[in-house]
Amino acid sequence: MPIKPSGRAALAGLLLGVSLSAQAAIDDPPGDTDDTAATAATMADLVDQPPQLRQFLRALPKGGDLHHHLDGAVYAEHLLRWADADQACIDKADHRAHPGPCDADTDEPARGLASRAPAFYNETVDAMSMRDFVPGDGADSGHDQFFDTFGRFAAISARHRTDMLALVLQQAAAEHVRYIETMTDPAALGTLAPLVTDMPWQTGAYDKALAHIQDGIGQRVAAARQAFDDDIDRLDQRLGCDTPDAQPACDVAYRFQFYVLRTLPPEKVFAQMALGFALAAADPRVVAVNIVAPEDNPTARADYRQHMAMFAFFHRRYPDVALSLHAGELTPGLVPPADLRFHIAAALAAGADRIGHGVDIASEDDAAATLARMRNQPVAVEINLTSNDVILGVAGAEHPLNLYRRAGVPVVLSTDDPGVSRIDLTHEYERAVREQGLDYRALKQLSRNSLIYAFLPGPSLWQPKAPRRAVPACAQALEAQRMDARCRRFIKASDKARSQWQLEQDFHRFEHRVTTGRS
Ligand SMILES: [Zn+2]
Repeated sequence: MPIKPSGRAALAGLLLGVSLSAQAAIDDPPGDTDDTAATAATMADLVDQPPQLRQFLRALPKGGDLHHHLDGAVYAEHLLRWADADQACIDKADHRAHPGPCDADTDEPARGLASRAPAFYNETVDAMSMRDFVPGDGADSGHDQFFDTFGRFAAISARHRTDMLALVLQQAAAEHVRYIETMTDPAALGTLAPLVTDMPWQTGAYDKALAHIQDGIGQRVAAARQAFDDDIDRLDQRLGCDTPDAQPACDVAYRFQFYVLRTLPPEKVFAQMALGFALAAADPRVVAVNIVAPEDNPTARADYRQHMAMFAFFHRRYPDVALSLHAGELTPGLVPPADLRFHIAAALAAGADRIGHGVDIASEDDAAATLARMRNQPVAVEINLTSNDVILGVAGAEHPLNLYRRAGVPVVLSTDDPGVSRIDLTHEYERAVREQGLDYRALKQLSRNSLIYAFLPGPSLWQPKAPRRAVPACAQALEAQRMDARCRRFIKASDKARSQWQLEQDFHRFEHRVTTGRS
């Protein structure tokens, strides 16, 4: 059901400092045509018919997936196929993959595994994902199972970045996703140990530490850029891009985010950040820096404020490098109450342009001010419904998605780790409809948001302070659904606006097909 300003919502509006007119604006995105209204009515009829709803949502134009870890994006069956080709080995006890040669006593060779030992193969798929995982069944929690999968397949995924990216783009094209912003670190950046060995380290004395490692950073960034060139050459060949047989995946735009591991010792986190910011500043394909790994980890908790101080330091040096920060991926009980009180606000203070997860917002001090800041700046929140369910046990009415929406904070839907979670982006839109009550117009705005708040370069097709209004250069063209010279000039100079224009055309065609019954 659509969210209407009921008495309770009005009260919430007062508490959060949001007027009812702001609430109405959330419900009524612009550009409605008769086809939009008919499409909305069609979707409303499908809410209680899951297969039909999925068919509808699979075809829905979805803009971008902005919170996406490349390592966690691929289903285990693909990883095991590559392990087979690599003649890698799977440890019999913990299903951890490692390079050959295999130990006859402790390993199963990955070569021919699916046909030779189908039961073990299936157990390995389960161990490398959330498939068939039952919380409370056995020793692991959903949280531990989720994060443990990465160590089990790391030896395979590390060798197959191009293969993973090809699959991700093919999947995106199949479910009408125009853009992927994926987190991945080039192996060419090397290990951190040699960088930090003699680095003078004193909390807060960041200038001195950075000066010491500057030369090492320059060499590593050059190697990482070369690695990206090689990956992308191989990818284009694989997909046949720039040939007459180009796959639809070639039309999916993509950019990279560099990630820092929040569980490392502080001097290594600092060195990793230094590499990430330098790489993003030097290479337009790397559009942002992020911070990942369990936020409830003891080191991550103890060092949270220090990590934010480091981000603030680098943000001042590199103001053009965007920041999307995982923050508030926590729940009461997972950590002591004090840890729930400040993570999102501190990430914003450090310069975050987007927030990943933001699940614990209701437990933060002065959440209303934080929400108002996110609305006004604006800072989008990347919502990962299935990930939050399987890792944190937060789903349905417990999830703050609608708290953010009612506060006027821009929301996007994303997958986080679709391979580990065994989902796709369509599935997350389904959950938004069936569990969060979003209607068609709300989904359409979320899809638009995923390009508005993407870190693609260039100005947006929508006005920065009024994201439901087109920029003057393209207002007429959008209204008429026909490109004109002025709008063409505008989108030619902007990767972002070009994707947005394509998304609007996708919506136009989609709504027309639904309305005329030709979907
Ligand atoms: Zn994530």
